[in-house]
Amino acid sequence: VREAFQRQRAFVADASHELRTPLTLLRGNAELLQMTAAAHLSSEDAQSFREIVRQTEQIERLISDMSTLARMDEGQLLLQPAPVDIGELLRSAAADARLLAAGKDMAVYLETDGDLRIAADETRVRELLLALVDNAVRYTPPGGTITLRATAADSHVEVSASDTGPGIPPEHIERVFERFYRVDPSRSREQGGSGLGLSIARAIAEAHGGSLTVSSKEGTGATFTLQLPRSGPPAASG
Ligand code: ADP
Repeated sequence: VREAFQRQRAFVADASHELRTPLTLLRGNAELLQMTAAAHLSSEDAQSFREIVRQTEQIERLISDMSTLARMDEGQLLLQPAPVDIGELLRSAAADARLLAAGKDMAVYLETDGDLRIAADETRVRELLLALVDNAVRYTPPGGTITLRATAADSHVEVSASDTGPGIPPEHIERVFERFYRVDPSRSREQGGSGLGLSIARAIAEAHGGSLTVSSKEGTGATFTLQLPRSGPPAASG
């Protein structure tokens, strides 16, 4: 059984790798044609080109997420812990949120308190925070607010990302961390998610020896809470 799983993981990793190059070429060519032919395209054709580029980007994201998970499963995603200031990372996540929310009438608040310096893999923690703010912006309708908070404790820091969106019904709440799980498949797919964001985010938190949880009251938004130990990932992951 172990061998079968191993073969399956290797297949996903190889397939992701092989798909990447033709897709990059596909997107590059579509973007080039879009630019060179812009003056001659009808508005329908221009729209079709935009759609090709958008869908290709979505497949690229999906492949990149699948290959990250395959490497995590293989134990090959080694973390590179170094001193990081979670306050700084959250400030840049708030800036990302404001960019993503541009034109959507949405307020983004940031509250940080205490000493937020820890040992962590900066790139992976940035990726985790981006997954949370990306979801918060995507699932919160215009007029909503997103609040990012970081607080310090002796042994760990806690980060929360709250939104005023539709929230998550209780029967779905734990399942949102499963791979490809979506509460409302048609709506989420339309909004462009891969369905892998939260499973990768939780795997990153756990690889650091931390946790990622969610609480929500349906209709009044969702709060994702990340805890990361100050001391960094356990020795085996670092
Ligand atoms: P996706 O790419 O579909 O967003 P994720 O793994 O990031 O995949 O999230 C899984 C599902 O959890 C989403 O499809 C959505 O149904 C739900 N979800 C995630 N974040 C939020 C949020 N802030 N508010 C409401 N629902 C959310």
